[in-house]
Amino acid sequence: MKDCLFCKIIAGEIPGSKVFENDRVFAFRDIHPQAPVHVLIVPKKHMANVLECDGETAAALAEAAGQIARQEGVAESGFRLISNCGRDGAQSVNHLHVHLLGGVQLTEKMN
Ligand code: AMP
Repeated sequence: MKDCLFCKIIAGEIPGSKVFENDRVFAFRDIHPQAPVHVLIVPKKHMANVLECDGETAAALAEAAGQIARQEGVAESGFRLISNCGRDGAQSVNHLHVHLLGGVQLTEKMN
């Protein structure tokens, strides 16, 4: 989609630190990491957030998350997946994305 930051990163128009790609999913390092491992997992097809997500895309994102966690060496120690949605969810980029956070003991607090 025109003027979408993450669509531009997927298309290679804006640099991104890619960690994973398949036919449906693209993943890159968050520019402001909040953990030693902080990867954004996004569908290649533009959709604003989880409210627009279909089952195949959800499955592809979950499968990619597992692969990336193994690749990044956090599968055994554990990690967290978060998808912010809308204003109260503090979503700042309107292209569906899942944050994968790991590499440190995360707290129980999620807000
Ligand atoms: P959210 O606040 O859930 O919408 O997450 C958006 C995330 O995108 C934030 O964690 C930002 O740090 C990250 N971000 C913004 N611009 C870029 C960029 N150019 N490359 C990588 N991550 C970015």
